[in-house]
Amino acid sequence: MTAQQRTPQQALGSGFGMRSTPSEVIAGADLSGKLAVVTGGYSGLGLETTKGLAEAGADVIVPARRPDHAREVLAGLGDTAGTITVDEMDLGDVASAGGFGQRIADGDRSVDILINNAAIMACPETRVGDGWEAQFATNHLGHYVMTNKMWPALDADGGARVVALSSTGHKLSDIRYDDIHFTSDYDKWIAYGQAKTANSLFAVHLDALGAEHGVRAFAVHPGGIMTELQRHLPKEEMIAMGWMDEAGNINELFKTPEQGASTSIFAATSPQLDGMGGVYCEDADIANLEDPDNAMGRFFGVKPYAIDAANAAKLWDVSAAATGVNAFV
Ligand code: NDP
Repeated sequence: MTAQQRTPQQALGSGFGMRSTPSEVIAGADLSGKLAVVTGGYSGLGLETTKGLAEAGADVIVPARRPDHAREVLAGLGDTAGTITVDEMDLGDVASAGGFGQRIADGDRSVDILINNAAIMACPETRVGDGWEAQFATNHLGHYVMTNKMWPALDADGGARVVALSSTGHKLSDIRYDDIHFTSDYDKWIAYGQAKTANSLFAVHLDALGAEHGVRAFAVHPGGIMTELQRHLPKEEMIAMGWMDEAGNINELFKTPEQGASTSIFAATSPQLDGMGGVYCEDADIANLEDPDNAMGRFFGVKPYAIDAANAAKLWDVSAAATGVNAFV
C-alpha cells in the first residue's frame, strides 16, 4: 500500500461518542452467518463485545485460558441470535495460541471478525515462553502468532476486519527494541505501555499486508473501565492515579463495560470504515493524533510512534523472528 492510500489518522465525526453503546453503534447491522472470534470474550468489555456481536446474529468463538469458567459466564448471557462457543487457548504459550489459530484455519468456516481483546496489565515481573516478559508476550506475541496461524480463514472471504485492543497506556512507551523483555529494571507500567503500543503497531502492519486481500485492521482504545484488568493494582495506587476516591467512587471519565465495548464493535462492523484501516480508534470514531498543547492530551489521541508504518514493519519482523511464525512469507 502506498503512503497516499493510508487512511488519515483523523476523526470522521462518526456521530458516536464516549457514552455510545454497542446497540447504538451496531444498529441495523445483520451479522447472521458471520463468524467472529473474541479473545478474552468472557470478562469485562470482551464479554460485552461477545454479547453485542452475538445479539446482532454473529456466531462467536471465545478462546479462553479458563474454558470452564468462560462457559459458565457466557451461559449467563441467555439466548442470543448467534451461537457462542468456547475453545481453549493460553496467549502466554505460543504453542497454545498457534494451536487455536491453526484449528480455526483448519475449520470449515471463514472468519469475518477477529477481536484481539485479551490482556493482562501491570502485573509483577513474570516470565513466559522463552524468558519473555509476560505483558509483551501475552498481549502482543500470543495474538501475533494466533492471528498469523488463523490468516487463511481471515483471507478466505476477502472482507474480514481485525481489531487489536490497544490503550491510551501506549503513551507510556514506544517499543524498547534494545531490551523488549526487560533484562533489567522491570517497570510494570512501561511494560504495559510497550505491549499496548505493540498492539497498535500490529494492527497498522496487518492492515498494510491485508489490504490487498480485503482484510483491514484497526487499533482501539476502549476508554477507562473498571474490570478484572485492574486485578494487580492495589486500591491505594488507583486512588493516587485519580481512578477512584477514598470511598471507592469511580472517576466520572470512566465508562461502563458496555460503553467500553462500543469502539471495538464500531471498528469491527461500521460501514463508515469501509475501505479504511491501519488507524487507531477511540470513542467509536477514528482518533486524532495526540495534541501536545492540550492539557487532557494524556487521555485522548494517539502518539505518532504507535501508528508509524516503519515502526510497525520493524515490530512485525522482530515478532516473526522471536516466534518463527509469519503468514506473509
Ligand atoms: P479483563 O481483565 O476484564 O479481561 C481480560 C481477558 O483476557 C480475560 O478474559 C482474561 O482471561 C483474558 N486473558 C488474560 N490473559 C490471558 C491469556 N494468557 N490467555 C488467554 N486469555 C487471557 O480486561 P478488560 O476487559 O478491561 O480489557 C480488555 C482489553 O481492553 C485489554 O486488551 C485491555 O488492555 C484493554 N483496555 C482496557 C482498559 C480498561 O480500563 N479496562 C483501558 C484500555 C485498554 P482470565 O479471566 O481467564 O484471566
